[in-house]
Amino acid sequence: MRYGSPESHEITCSKCGKKATVPFKPTEGRAVYCQECFKVERQNRRPF
Ligand SMILES: [Zn+2]
Repeated sequence: MRYGSPESHEITCSKCGKKATVPFKPTEGRAVYCQECFKVERQNRRPF
C-alpha cells in the first residue's frame, strides 16, 4: 500500500450539498460530508 500520496475524491456533501474533496474513497450509498459538516456531525453524534 502506498502512503504519502494523499488521494482526493470529489464528493457532494449530503448535508449542505456543497462540493468538497475528501482524502478517502467515499462509500457508495453512505452519506458523505464536507469537512465543515463532518465536524458538526462528529460533535452532534447521537447515542444510537
Ligand atoms: Zn457540508
